[in-house]
Amino acid sequence: MLYRTVPKTGDRLSILGFGCMRYPSTRTGGIDEERTIRQIRQAIDGGVNYLDTAPVYHMGKSEVILGRALADGYREKVRIATKLPPWSVFDRDDMERILDTQLETLQTDHIDYYLLHSLSKSSFESMKMLGIFAFLDSAKKDGRIRHAGFSTHANNAVFREIVDSYDWDFCQIQYNYLDEKNQAGTDGLEYAAGKKMAVMIMEPLRGGNLAGRVPAAIQAIWDKAPVKRSPAEWALRWVWNHPEVTVVLSGMNDEAHIEENLRVADTALPGGLLEEDLATIHRARDEYWRLMKVGCTGCGYCMPCPAGVDIPGCFASYNTHALFPHDRTTKFHYIGQHGGLMGEKSSAGLCRQCGKCAKACPQHLPIPALMKDVAREMEGMMGVVVPVLKGGLWCMNKLGRVRRFVTGDKSHA
Ligand code: SF4
Ligand code: SF4
Repeated sequence: MLYRTVPKTGDRLSILGFGCMRYPSTRTGGIDEERTIRQIRQAIDGGVNYLDTAPVYHMGKSEVILGRALADGYREKVRIATKLPPWSVFDRDDMERILDTQLETLQTDHIDYYLLHSLSKSSFESMKMLGIFAFLDSAKKDGRIRHAGFSTHANNAVFREIVDSYDWDFCQIQYNYLDEKNQAGTDGLEYAAGKKMAVMIMEPLRGGNLAGRVPAAIQAIWDKAPVKRSPAEWALRWVWNHPEVTVVLSGMNDEAHIEENLRVADTALPGGLLEEDLATIHRARDEYWRLMKVGCTGCGYCMPCPAGVDIPGCFASYNTHALFPHDRTTKFHYIGQHGGLMGEKSSAGLCRQCGKCAKACPQHLPIPALMKDVAREMEGMMGVVVPVLKGGLWCMNKLGRVRRFVTGDKSHA
C-alpha cells in the first residue's frame, strides 16, 4: 500500500480508502454484516487506513456496522471519516446531538475526518447562518473531531467559494477521467491542494460505470492497449496519477475487487502513467464523450440560471443515463441531487425557456430544448420519490429527537 501525506497535518493516509456506502447484501436484500466486517478487515489488513461513512448510508446502518468492524483493535489502525448531514440540521443543538450520536454509534471518542455532507450553495449558506464554523472550532478544540472538511458535487465556482470560507483541512470531490471539467474538476483539485488541503476523491469509477460492463467501443480501446489492465484499474490509476490527490475512495463489496484495488494501490505512484497510457485513457474518454447525448463540457459559462437549474449537472446525469441505460441508480442520483432533497431544487423541469444560457454556451448547445428532453427522460418519478424520501428524512430526524426525550439525554438540549 502506498501512502500520501496530508500537507497541513503530516497525517499519512493510504491512497486507497474504503467507502462504506455499498456493503454486500444477503439474498433477502439486507446487509450481510458478517461478510461486510470480514471485507473491512481484509482491506485494513492490506494497508487501508482511511474509512469513509455517513449517517445516510444504508439508512444509518453503515456507521453501526463500521463501529462493530473496528472492534478487536482495528479502530487504532485507522482514521474514520463521517459526515454531518446539513438536511437534518436546524440549529446548533442538532449539530451537537448528531456528532455525539455518531461517536456512540461508531464506538469511538473522536472522528478523525469530519465532513459537512454534500454541500450545495444553499445548504452551505444555511449552515453558515446556523454557526457551523463555531461548532467545528469547538468540536476540534474539545477533541471530538480531529480534522474538518466538506464534500460537494457543486460546480467549480461554488466549490472555490466554500474552500475560501474556512480553514478546512480537507475536502471530498467527485473526480475521474470523465469529470475533469465537471463539478470541482481538475481546477478545483489543484485549487484545494494549493491551499494545502487533503483532497479525497469519490466516484473514481463514476458509481461503477467506468468499471465492469463498459460500452463495447470502450472495451475495444482497452483491448488494444499494449499493457493489459481492467477498466477499473485504468480509471483508478488515472486518478492516482495526480499528485494533488490524497485518498481515492472505493465502495468495495466484493473480495476480488478489494484484492485487485489493494494490488493496484501498491504501485500507483503520482506521475506514474506513461505518455502511451495517458493516450489510451484519452481515447477512451473521447469515445465516452462521442457516445453521450449532449456535448456539454461542464465549463459553467451558462451559469447561473435565473430559474435555478444546475445546467451542467443536469446534462452530466442525462449523459450518464444515456451511456448506461441498464443502471437504474442514475435517475435516483439525479433526483437526490437536483430534486430538492439535499438543498435547493435545481432540476431541468425548472427551466423557463428564457434562452439566456444558450447565448453563453461555447458549444452552441440548444440548452432550452435539451432541458425539455432532460426533464422528460429523468423526472418522471420525481413528483412521487422526492416527497417520500423527504418524509423519510423528516421521520429519521424526529426519531432522533424523540429518542433524546425518552432517554432523558439533556446534555445538548
Ligand atoms: S433557458 Fe432555461 S436553463 Fe437556460 S437560463 Fe433560461 S431558465 Fe435557465
Ligand atoms: S456553457 Fe454549454 S458546455 Fe458549458 S456547462 Fe453550460 S451547457 Fe455545458
